[in-house]
Amino acid sequence: MKRKEFLKKGSIAALSSAVLVNACQNNPSKAEAPNIISNKKYKWKMVTTWPPNFPVVGEIANYLSQWVEEMSGGRMKIEVYGGGELVPALESFDAVSIGAAEMGCGASYYWVGKTPSAQFFTSIPFGMNAQQVAAWLISGGGMELWQEVYAPFDLIPFAGGNTGVQMGGWFNKRIDRVEDLQGLKMRIPGMGGKVLTKAGGAAVLVAGGEIYTSLERGVIDATEWIGPYHDYKMGFHKIAKYYYTPGWHETGSQLEFFANKTMFEKLPKDLQTIIETATMRAQAWVLAEFDAKNGVYLQKIKNEKEVEVLRFPKPVLDALRVYTKETIQEIVSQNKQSKKVYEHFMQFKKSIDPWSALTEKVFYNDLM
Ligand code: CA
Repeated sequence: MKRKEFLKKGSIAALSSAVLVNACQNNPSKAEAPNIISNKKYKWKMVTTWPPNFPVVGEIANYLSQWVEEMSGGRMKIEVYGGGELVPALESFDAVSIGAAEMGCGASYYWVGKTPSAQFFTSIPFGMNAQQVAAWLISGGGMELWQEVYAPFDLIPFAGGNTGVQMGGWFNKRIDRVEDLQGLKMRIPGMGGKVLTKAGGAAVLVAGGEIYTSLERGVIDATEWIGPYHDYKMGFHKIAKYYYTPGWHETGSQLEFFANKTMFEKLPKDLQTIIETATMRAQAWVLAEFDAKNGVYLQKIKNEKEVEVLRFPKPVLDALRVYTKETIQEIVSQNKQSKKVYEHFMQFKKSIDPWSALTEKVFYNDLM
């Protein structure tokens, strides 16, 4: 659009961009085209790893799209596609990497086959909680490291919320000693599954839609999922006797948005900031929504069914912690970047743990 026509529109945006254009012309060193506000419209596609409108994690993709459109005064529209609508859920990473879609929403541990170190940005067993993970990513250098890991794929990651500490899962037999895990067939993906295997259990892969019947028919003895809100919707309380805490395998699973890096960098600076700002709002909303809903649904579960809510005994957790160290050691010994990310993660954890122990832990133990 020519500048003359542009000014004819007479909007405040046009006026402010005219000022910007003049300012840039007066100062050639700052005359970077992408910083000029214009009325150019952008239409992006976002692919997600979740079923369409899936509670919390799917909803946040829709909210992000809405917030970006509102903040940009309609200049940027992001159309959201649930898993399978545009590309299969687990092809989201590749789709955005090659630019078939501009943005994606998921969890980095799905991309372990692309780059092993990605999983450390979602969650590791006996890792950090949501508050600590946010501190690591936002203020502790974690995000810069994550950007480094995604850059070779022409991707840029953003925070996308956190589930908080998950539940340990649904069981039809009690876990009193670590020996009770032997032969246990459990649906538990990722590193947690590897740890269970070391403890003598069998980590079974079951698609989301088949978990309920597998547990009901005894094809599996146990399953983990997320927390009371999502677990209730799956109906696990109707078919399992014991609901165990804590989710030692997912102590604060971080979710993500990601964009095609080249396309993101081509956006005007204000739209880049709008996207970044919207992802930070998403980060806050997701954890708040999980916590608020989990409180309500935990009560519902307790009211509706005779479910025993139990804690894994300390010796069981201690044993799983040892198996976790072995599992992670195997991963990092085979991959340099994983080693770097894990060491950074652990260094941060070491520095924040004493502070969390002195305040958050005391709050939970003595003030609640
Ligand atoms: Ca889970």
